[in-house]
Amino acid sequence: MSKYIFITGGVVSSLGKGIASASIGKLLETRGLKVTLIKCDPYINVDPGTMNPFQHGEVYVTDDGAETDLDLGHYERFTNAKLTKDNNITTGKIYYSVISRERRGDYLGKTVQIIPHITDEIKHRIKKVTRERNVDIVIVEIGGTVGDIESLPFLEAIRQLRQEVGASYALNIHVTLIPYLKSADEIKTKPTQHSVGTLREIGIIPDILLCRTEKALSKGARDKIALFCNVDKEAVIPAHDVKHIYEVPVEFKKSFLDDLILRKLNIKCEERDLSEWSKIVIKRLKEPAKGVNISVVGKYITLQDAYKSIYEALVHGGIANDAEVIINKIDSEDIEKSAAEKLLKDSQGILIPGGFGNRGIEGKIKAVRYARENKIPFLGICLGMQMAAIEFARNVCGLKEAHSTEFNKKTKYPVISLLEEQKKIKEMGATMRLGKYNCVLSKGTNSYKAYKKTRIAERHRHRYEFNNKYREIVQNKGVIFSGINPDQNLVEIIELENHPWFVACQFHPEFKSKPDKAHALFREFIRSALKIQTPKP
Ligand code: GLN
Repeated sequence: MSKYIFITGGVVSSLGKGIASASIGKLLETRGLKVTLIKCDPYINVDPGTMNPFQHGEVYVTDDGAETDLDLGHYERFTNAKLTKDNNITTGKIYYSVISRERRGDYLGKTVQIIPHITDEIKHRIKKVTRERNVDIVIVEIGGTVGDIESLPFLEAIRQLRQEVGASYALNIHVTLIPYLKSADEIKTKPTQHSVGTLREIGIIPDILLCRTEKALSKGARDKIALFCNVDKEAVIPAHDVKHIYEVPVEFKKSFLDDLILRKLNIKCEERDLSEWSKIVIKRLKEPAKGVNISVVGKYITLQDAYKSIYEALVHGGIANDAEVIINKIDSEDIEKSAAEKLLKDSQGILIPGGFGNRGIEGKIKAVRYARENKIPFLGICLGMQMAAIEFARNVCGLKEAHSTEFNKKTKYPVISLLEEQKKIKEMGATMRLGKYNCVLSKGTNSYKAYKKTRIAERHRHRYEFNNKYREIVQNKGVIFSGINPDQNLVEIIELENHPWFVACQFHPEFKSKPDKAHALFREFIRSALKIQTPKP
């Protein structure tokens, strides 16, 4: 029978609960256990697919086409768990199914209530994943902060679940903040005491506290937290700020967190260290042999989380090449206002990520042109690929008004147009071309050289697509169609002749990159960027 680890957060949001959950998953996998992870999000949106990146950050896409919370990205990067739509439970999904059932008459005249109907639906979904995945441990992270009204049904559901399965089958870990007050030169434990108090009021007693601190946690402070929060001394685990998120499992290991979890869950397994991970990931992160300047040109540059997987995949590409990737974040609207050269001249590689909407589009097109003309390695992703096609049509093929019908419905040259299947779609939620689709690569291309095989499958999230009517025109001028979806004959990757490394893909390679196994396109992008020795004069 699988065992549960429930992870809650206290005091403030943004404590890195997702990374903590992923790191625990990593540690347990290292000990030979099979894990899966579930994220419960208390918002009423059915999924984050309809949310603006300013609201939510990146929308992470799984193989089965679910638009999910970015924490699932951390889970997949740190562990081998294969995640699906069922690994992200939202209040929206829960209410949607309960209300649909009520309309069908399934509740046979009963009053439908938060307890038991909403909480039962939450438990049902957690148990479904548990049943189907055949894992040793299910890690369930509850989004939000203890004390929020929204997360109460989720907390009640995990309280009940633990009661049902018994104490040795479930563990509560509370991630909390121990703030440092500069004026008093002291760390403060009171907010954590309150947070644990609130948890206890609703019947949840934490077994382990992960204490986020910027200052070291003294033995005295740990003892005090243990005494007032009613947890074992050894279960007060310091979680200091670290420079790289991939150090977190190593730090947890130093505090014997895996041993503690295994002991509390009564699981016996072999001792194994994280030396592989430390050797490759940590060593190369901390002591890279070289550096490389990569510019990311997007419109959500001020937001840390909007391009999360892209930034991580770049770091992975760096690890694979023993190089530190210095990411230069450039707002595409700034490029619109000035010469591209001014902002891009130090770039050894240029990446344009995915996106929606008109803002900053012309700046992205200028950035593509700069990369093409100056032979700077270029990686275009989704909208970045569409911009690359438009730039080429306009500036090389002379189709001056070429555009995507997303931005100009009446364009004379719709080089990018709505996918056929999208034309009848009215609703916005979960209706894009989503998830895993096949792609066949042509031998001899840079894409083939990266993947070293002809058949690949990658994740998608788009409505628009390269318009096949323009294939011949751009091909005659030097575009290589290196990746094609064989089932629908859709362009998946374009490259350029006479350019050292110019690859633009309609899919999102960043979702499948890992720190110890960089995605092939990111690995090769960084490798070719490293060859640009002197940034353009
Ligand atoms: N807006 C474009 C489309 O819908 C690109 C989407 C993306 O970059 N994810 O096709």
